[in-house]
Amino acid sequence: MSSKTPEERESQVEVQGEAVNEERDGASCLWLGPVEPCAIVIFGASGDLTARKLVPALYNLYTQGGLPRRFLILGAARSGLSDDEFRSRMKKAVLAGEGRDPGPWEEFAACLHYQPLTYDEPGDYTTLGVRLERLEALHGTGGGRVFNLAVPPDIYQTVAVNLGRAGLGRQERGWTRVVVEKPFGRDLASARALNQALTAHFDEEQVYRIDHYLAKETVQNILMLRFANAIFEPVWNRNYVDHVSIVSSETLGVEHRAGYYERAGVLRDMFQNHMLQLLSLVAQEPPSIFEAERVRDEKVKVFRSFRPFDLDNLDANLVLGQYGQGTVNGQPAPPYRAEAGVAPDSLTPTFALMKIFVDNWRWQGVPFFLVSGKRMRSKITRLVIHFKEVPHALMRQVLGDHITANRLALGIHPDETISLTIQTKNPGARLCLRTVRMLFDYHQGYEAPRLEAYEKALLDCMLGERILFWRQDGLEMCWSFLDPVLNLCETCGNRAERLKPYPAGSWGPPEAAALMRGRPLPWA
Ligand code: NDP
Repeated sequence: MSSKTPEERESQVEVQGEAVNEERDGASCLWLGPVEPCAIVIFGASGDLTARKLVPALYNLYTQGGLPRRFLILGAARSGLSDDEFRSRMKKAVLAGEGRDPGPWEEFAACLHYQPLTYDEPGDYTTLGVRLERLEALHGTGGGRVFNLAVPPDIYQTVAVNLGRAGLGRQERGWTRVVVEKPFGRDLASARALNQALTAHFDEEQVYRIDHYLAKETVQNILMLRFANAIFEPVWNRNYVDHVSIVSSETLGVEHRAGYYERAGVLRDMFQNHMLQLLSLVAQEPPSIFEAERVRDEKVKVFRSFRPFDLDNLDANLVLGQYGQGTVNGQPAPPYRAEAGVAPDSLTPTFALMKIFVDNWRWQGVPFFLVSGKRMRSKITRLVIHFKEVPHALMRQVLGDHITANRLALGIHPDETISLTIQTKNPGARLCLRTVRMLFDYHQGYEAPRLEAYEKALLDCMLGERILFWRQDGLEMCWSFLDPVLNLCETCGNRAERLKPYPAGSWGPPEAAALMRGRPLPWA
């Protein structure tokens, strides 16, 4: 602990112009605590997620000293790879990452292994269990085990059930956790069925439903901004907030994931998980204590307060779109329907703008506008709290009717910033206002290493910290909210008319801007 008084620390901040104090700076914030020796088993280890996210994240943790000295990674999938073949694939994937130090690779690679496995072949799980025990003895990892299901979603249940039947869900020798990637079902019924399969052999406490958005530093910071500062909470409600907008746009199209995306569409792919989670962080009440169950309780209360959609008047609250031909970043981009694996008459939405009301004391009457789409003009993730305008009477004669309202913008990507838009007087005899931004850049004055989203999520799982993971009741609430909309949109006779076209590289269909009714556009 620092021996400085709060005043001395504050003056240090003034002198350096950056957030500095000894308790909270740099590497001391990086780690929550030591991770126990453990084994990480990745199903679907021949796939995209493993190569692009999981193993690179584990390598980064390793090189930064975040993994225990004794650990092992066992990849499993149908592809017939040897340990060495798996290692060389992972080496290529990991070292393709910008700025990664190849130095520790050989040492890390010695902890990588591979076991071919057919997902619906129970005997293969027994074999896997035997191999795992041998490797645990070899690496001295003890009993901690993470099973990461990086397989296509329709195989989650098969893997979970077979793991359980092979006795691999038990926690006799140490903890066992199972990590599930989104999507968690494709509707309420399938989400429940998946949960049944998982909880037949694992307790809810053993299940980690990953939403990597929640592990982004700037997203984690939302609750800190709200609850570690006294000045925001008093105005964080219907009395001062006009509306909230949350945008997450991509420039990429469907890429190689058409098989999945054609069945999912933007509402399942983005709204059911990331977008509603972001909303809950803005809308939730302060938990009694910053602890996983209490934080997740508060989120569930938000989900429970969503006003059900008026299905007779859906167009007033929802715009769906699909990208057509256009230009993205100066390059011609094909229409969605011409992408590999997409049906030429596909009615899958790639864009949605949704207006949601949270019917509780704090948010009554405040609309939340959520927007997400593929092949949009730029890649942005941002939350904006739009405050109400000031009462006009005071300065109407000199300024006219309109004074731009204050806005608090929380940038997640590409800008990791917090900015507050305020009005100031221009110097001079005449009373003129101008809008200026007070800007905090997340990188300002902080040079210590940081954890990427997957690194943080995997680390938390190894530590048994569940605050950033979905709990089943929250998941079911969100599906209950979206299911009627999905049903209507996917079965109604006018499905094609509901889907508004937009050119690739634009900000979505014009109907989206119309739904904002003159409010600032979320992406502006
Ligand atoms: P992949 O499509 O790359 O599949 C992973 C592995 O599963 C494949 O290498 C293949 O291995 C096996 N597999 C693929 N299709 C089948 C099939 N029809 N039947 C049986 N096995 C199959 O998936 P990703 O790695 O992209 O994603 C894994 C999970 O993570 C998915 O649930 C996805 O939704 C989720 N996810 C992925 C993200 C990403 O960026 N990729 C982001 C967020 C979530 P083999 O043939 O060797 O068995």
